[in-house]
Amino acid sequence: MDPNPNRNRLKLDFIPFLAPGHLIPLCGLATLLASRGHHVRVITTPSNAQLLAKSNPSLHLHTVDFPAREAGLAHGVEIMSKVDDFNKAANFYRAAMLLRGPIARILEQQPPDCIVADFMYPWMDDVANNLNIPRLAFNGFSLFTVAAMESVKANPALLPSDAAPFVIPDFPHHITMCAPPPKIATGFMDQLLGIELKSHGLIVNSFAELDGEEYLEHYQKRTGHKAWHVGPACLAPRSGEERAEKSVVSENECLSWLDSKPPQSVVYICFGSMCRFPDKQLYEMACGLEQAGHAFIWVVPEKKGEECDKEEEKEMWLPKGFEERNKEKGLIIRGWAPQLLILGHAAVAAFLTHCGWNSTLEAVTAGVPMITWPVQGDQFYNEKLVSEVRGIGVEVGATEWRVVGYGEREKLIGRDCIERAVRRLMDGGEEALNIRRRAKEFGEKAKEALQEGGSSHDSLSALIAHLLRLRDSKINSLHSF
Ligand code: UDP
Repeated sequence: MDPNPNRNRLKLDFIPFLAPGHLIPLCGLATLLASRGHHVRVITTPSNAQLLAKSNPSLHLHTVDFPAREAGLAHGVEIMSKVDDFNKAANFYRAAMLLRGPIARILEQQPPDCIVADFMYPWMDDVANNLNIPRLAFNGFSLFTVAAMESVKANPALLPSDAAPFVIPDFPHHITMCAPPPKIATGFMDQLLGIELKSHGLIVNSFAELDGEEYLEHYQKRTGHKAWHVGPACLAPRSGEERAEKSVVSENECLSWLDSKPPQSVVYICFGSMCRFPDKQLYEMACGLEQAGHAFIWVVPEKKGEECDKEEEKEMWLPKGFEERNKEKGLIIRGWAPQLLILGHAAVAAFLTHCGWNSTLEAVTAGVPMITWPVQGDQFYNEKLVSEVRGIGVEVGATEWRVVGYGEREKLIGRDCIERAVRRLMDGGEEALNIRRRAKEFGEKAKEALQEGGSSHDSLSALIAHLLRLRDSKINSLHSF
């Protein structure tokens, strides 16, 4: 019998930020580590823990209360997708900062071998250093995007002072961005990226073939920081679809609607968990979809629910008679949709997306080409990876780089642009065929990456070996005192 059965077993604490785009992938990666036999604990708040207990049963959960009231939010708000204005978002972040004390106490009482924490908690650096526990950082971005952000951060003098296009400085590909990111957003982001670089390394929810070896090398050479590609997290074992919020349609309802459509005939439209377009933009979207003439599943915010929609209010965002005319052709989901299930269905041929990294990677993994419509943050860089670098999507033509996903816009994407982009992918033709072929190939590569001998599988093994060595050398140095 092995005298020390825990020799090869790590104790890992995962601390996800409380927004679906952060929580879902980090818990997916936690599940991948648990599936290798390690003891993985997730520290989160009660209502998030309740959903995780169902979707990721292999994780141990430890809860801390979320100080919503202390930060001026309604009691019960525990996930950032429930706030929809800038001030509430700032309050939410303040509440997340207040988690430092309770989380530090848990880590002190039962110290793990390693902390894997979201970079949105900048205080984690101090906490981990004080306890002498190695910390891995997670930011939820692709490494292509982190490398682009680092290049932009290092070369402020090369950026235009107004909203003019610029080429990403000192970068493996020649990429022209529509405008520099808003200063207020980069100020915040640069600070977080700086603290991230003080961590032991970065774990990336992507796979090496998608980001490209050249970006891994570029990042490691420029920053001297180590990165491990261990995704896609969406392929981690899970039960059911409810990963951060409860779906408003049942899986069966969605599946039987999709089953009734021919293969490769449906456009799926969803803008993630944090983006809320103004009514007039939704109206243009509806017109563009109708003009393009293809079947669709369109996810709109919960507040667009039928029961609270008076007819005249509805007509602000939906053309008169739209639902009646598109009864057969379209399914509107008001609220949270089972996205992985939809993307994985054979009827789905294209994804009109805001290019949040999870949505992007989920589409890549499902082999579904994208129509890209970025709104804020990393989404504009992700769009370039999809459209220009990997050739698995077409751009709708969005150029308004916003600080947050809600609020009035300065620019409107017109119905004709939307129709044109949908037709470019859906009406056949050589360009569309090539994009579709490449998307399928990347879907295969994504699955291979996590199989034995695949790039992410090997990278995860290397990371585990590295963490075991780190733990053992810490134990040895303690014994030598
Ligand atoms: N998501 C979902 N149903 C929805 C909206 C979003 O399942 O109706 C999931 C989606 O699959 C992804 C995450 O929420 O895993 C959104 O993350 P992403 O990075 O794409 O965008 P964000 O919400 O952070 O802007």
